[in-house]
Amino acid sequence: NKFEQLGLQAEIVNAVNDMGFEAPSEVQAQAIPILLDQETDLVALAQTGTGKTAAFGFPLIQKINVDSKQTQGLILSPTRELCLQIANELKNYSKYLKQLNVVAIYGGASISEQEKQIKRGAQIIVATPGRMKDMVGRRMIDISEIDYCVLDEADEMLNMGFYEDITDILSHTPKEKKTWLFSATMPKEVASIAKKFMSNPVEITV
Ligand code: AMP
Repeated sequence: NKFEQLGLQAEIVNAVNDMGFEAPSEVQAQAIPILLDQETDLVALAQTGTGKTAAFGFPLIQKINVDSKQTQGLILSPTRELCLQIANELKNYSKYLKQLNVVAIYGGASISEQEKQIKRGAQIIVATPGRMKDMVGRRMIDISEIDYCVLDEADEMLNMGFYEDITDILSHTPKEKKTWLFSATMPKEVASIAKKFMSNPVEITV
């Protein structure tokens, strides 16, 4: 199995088989071995529809310690729809990892309901920047010990005016975490985020 050859564990490979994925897409083939084998920052230039959610989702799931309920991974994404979509995909990928909880955090919905979900333990949070900043600022979410932060559709998030929210959120994360940035384009705002918050990222383009 080609996904197994990339280094993915049996539980994830089985879920991938259930989804009917036959072979890794290009961004998956490039990103997954790097993210599994190297503790490194990553900048990936990839459009939507290329399979990028799995490119960061599979390695992220594999790296989570399911014996801990601590929040270990944060994915920032521009819209509520994308957050829900990513969270659903991650739940599918991790269906054979019973103790993995993924929670979506976004504006326009009950904050106390989202806080309840967080309190039950979310090893992975998928969030829009505005609501995330709010909940971190109100101490409803603790991201002081995350290991991985994914910036998905970074160009879109910056286009939507989330620069300040993103930098505020990142200021609450540990310096040692690894950051994986995915963007369709590389305007100077994205390059600036990469320069400010990442160190020696591996770069891939698909
Ligand atoms: P994304 O670019 O992550 O939004 O993914 C686009 C679509 O491609 C989603 O519906 C995925 O479920 C699907 N997909 C992702 N990876 C693969 C793959 N290796 N083989 C077939 N479909 C895939």
